[in-house]
Amino acid sequence: MAESIHEKALRLIEAGAVTIRHQGDNLVDADVRGDHDTYPVVVEVGDRERCMCPASGDCSHLLAVLAVALQRNTGLPPAVTLGKVGV
Ligand SMILES: [Zn+2]
Repeated sequence: MAESIHEKALRLIEAGAVTIRHQGDNLVDADVRGDHDTYPVVVEVGDRERCMCPASGDCSHLLAVLAVALQRNTGLPPAVTLGKVGV
């Protein structure tokens, strides 16, 4: 069975691939080291989410950044928050 983007996001987090460069009230600016390259990810809460990787739409990098940012805000582990992040 193929790895889902949620599973991949968790794997990236556990590998320490997510680097949050800046986290403000409504903005998260991060880098994610993916399987092939490192991608900048920008999340504007309630507005738009953007990852620079070639995948169109939602991707594991975006999910990983959201889960790490939520962990910082709420203390919930990524495995929990990933289940709440809609795709
Ligand atoms: Zn991506």
